[in-house]
Parts: sequence; structure tokens; C-alpha cells
Amino acid sequence: MKVLYPGSFDPLTFGHLDLIQRASDLFGQVIIAVLENPTKDSTFLVPRRLEQIKQATNSLSHIEVISYKGLTVECAIKYNVDLILRGLRAMSDFEYELQIAHTNRSLDSSIETIFLATEAHHSFLSSSVVKEVAMFGGNVDHMVPKMIAKDLYNIYKIN
Ligand code: ADP
Repeated sequence: MKVLYPGSFDPLTFGHLDLIQRASDLFGQVIIAVLENPTKDSTFLVPRRLEQIKQATNSLSHIEVISYKGLTVECAIKYNVDLILRGLRAMSDFEYELQIAHTNRSLDSSIETIFLATEAHHSFLSSSVVKEVAMFGGNVDHMVPKMIAKDLYNIYKIN
């Protein structure tokens, strides 16, 4: 099976990576799709996010990393995937994710969304939490892969 894992990944965290690993074990092929969203202010440009994700997943097989604009369902059709994958950390994710899943099904009822629950020890992790910690000089080595930690320290000028 082939699944599409769409998101901002600004940047990828160990929470995302754990989901990717488990999805690849469960389904086979995972296409990580970085959304180019002009309405959302981003920290990393999309080409850099693609490089970060490619490096973080280079030891995994059956992973493809792409970017897309516009509707996720159109991307899912273009790449001919069986499922859209999203992650759940808490009830607060659930409400938002359910709304997106319903919206996507209203656009194309042939596409199912599947959810994987985060590992408990990654449930506090989000891209914005990681950025906030780095911004205030905190250590993020346990939250993101090495290259991304370096990029964050560079952006926020911490060694
Ligand atoms: P978006 O802006 O589309 O929410 P994100 O990059 O923030 O993009 O998240 C992409 C997906 O990964 C979402 O389904 C989100 O719930 C999930 N996710 C984010 N952080 C984690 C985590 N720590 N563990 C599991 N899933 C996560």
C-alpha cells in the first residue's frame, strides 16, 4: 500500500519521524508531502524542509519526499495513494484532524484518512514547541534530527 503523509514539517520532529517509521512498517510506501502554503508564515523554506526530511529518512526504504501546492486530495490522486495519513497527539488534534478528514472526503469520497496515535513520549512535540525552545536558547537535540537542530541553532544564533 501507498500512503500520503501531508503536513508543514516546519521543521520535522522526532514525532513526525516516528510516525513515518511506523507507517512504513505498516503500509509499505510512504510519500511525505510538504505543503507549500503561502498563507502560513514559515521558518524554513520548502526546499530546505525537503532536504531536512530527505536526510532524516535516508536510512529508511520506500520513502519519497515531495512538495505540493493546493488541495491535499489532488496530491493524493496525483500520486495514486491508497490512504492519507495524519498523526494524533491529543484531543485538541482530534477536532482539527476530524474536520480536515471530513472536508477531504467531501471533496473526494474515494480517499480515506487514517490516523496513528503518537508515541506517548513524543506527544508533547510539535514544530512550534521546538522552535520556541530553540528561540529561547534551549536544547532541542532530543526533539529533532541533528541537521535540523543545527539549522535551528543557526537561525536563532546559538552554538
Ligand atoms: P500541519 O500544519 O498540516 O498540521 P504538521 O507538520 O504540524 O502539519 O503536522 C503534520 C501531521 O503530523 C499532523 O497530522 C500532526 O498531527 C502530526 N504530528 C505532529 N507532531 C506529531 C507528533 N509529535 N507525534 C505524532 N504526530 C505528530
